Formats: sequence, C-alpha cells, structure tokens
Amino acid sequence: MTLQALAHSLHNCQRCKLATLGRTQVVFGIGNPNAQVMFVGEGPGFNEDKQGEPFVGAAGKLLNELLQSAGLSRAEIYIANVVKCRPPNNRDPEPDEVETCKPFLFQQIDSIQPKLVCTLGRWSTETILERKVSITKIRGQVIRHHNLVVFPLLHPAAALHQGNLLPALREDFGKLKHYLDQANRESAVVPSPSPASPEKTQTVQMDLF
Ligand code: URA
Repeated sequence: MTLQALAHSLHNCQRCKLATLGRTQVVFGIGNPNAQVMFVGEGPGFNEDKQGEPFVGAAGKLLNELLQSAGLSRAEIYIANVVKCRPPNNRDPEPDEVETCKPFLFQQIDSIQPKLVCTLGRWSTETILERKVSITKIRGQVIRHHNLVVFPLLHPAAALHQGNLLPALREDFGKLKHYLDQANRESAVVPSPSPASPEKTQTVQMDLF
C-alpha cells in the first residue's frame, strides 16, 4: 500500500479510544516518501492535533534547529508518531492504543524504507525495538533490529523540560550524518559482472556493529 493510500485508510480512524477522547484529527505523518532518514515521535500534542502535522510546537522548533545542525531539512526527512491521535492532556499513550496504531507505523516504515530510523524518546524506541529500554543509556548508539537500523535519541520535549539533556541531544544529532553514511554504505550492493559469478554480489559490511 502506498503512503497516500495508508493515510487515506486512516482518515477519521475509529480503531481505538483516542478517536473519542477529544482529538481534532488523525496526524498521519509528513515528509519525503523516499526519505533516507525517518524520525518517530510519541504522539501528537496540542499544536500537532490542531495543525495535522507532527512536531509543529515547541519540540518541533527544537527539532528543526537540530536537523539544521545535522545538515538536514524537514523536506528531506519523514516524521511520524507511534500513535496518530492526540492522547488527552498529553498523557502517555496507553498500551492498547500503541498496539492498535503500531502496525500503521510499521507500514509507513515499510513504504519509506529509510536507511536510518531515529526514534525520539523512550516510547518510540521501545515500540520500534519491541523491548523495554533506558533511553538515557542507549541514546546515541546505532542498533540493528530486524532489517532496520535504529538510532535512538532523547525526545526534544524532554530536553526542553530538562535543559541538562540538551547537550546529549545535540551531541547525538552531531553523529547522525556519519551513521547515515555508514548505513548507506552497508546497504550498497556491489553488482556482479555476470550471472556466472554470483559470489561477487555481496553486501558491503557495515563497520559499526
Ligand atoms: N511530541 C511527539 O512525540 N510528537 C509530536 O508530533 C509532537 C510532540
């Protein structure tokens, strides 16, 4: 299914209780459908719910600044959230809401095929890695999970609330381009000159892991 068709299928989604708890609209995700880098947040906040776009509030402003520092623009990346509807009063998404919405996040990833999936905060990291994590311990390290290259980062909203987290977040964004280059090298395939020597077709090893 294309991203557009998936977005269309979720328009006015009623699959979980967030549909009845005051959301304005489904916030599907936005950006380049062929992005090499995809960011995954937790769920829409007040501004995102009103505007229908992820990361447009204060955390989004910080994210824009961090992207710029990494030499990336919003136009070249894709951003989505684990849950597509705003939890009331910005509470954390509940397990049933995450379970219901998670398949759509994985379908977005499948469609975009990003080289690097940057998870923002503990919630999205745990959802993508399918296990409990300490985000402060694993942030800034590249982790392979199934066929994904995952780069967990602190959530920009957490860094806004706790200024002492900001240097670590900036430091990790400083590594992003390097890890993207590595992931690109790893996925590059050396073409075989002829079908008679298939052993020459090989995946270039990633030296990070
Ligand atoms: N925080 C998130 O996790 N996602 C958004 O879209 C905005 C703030």
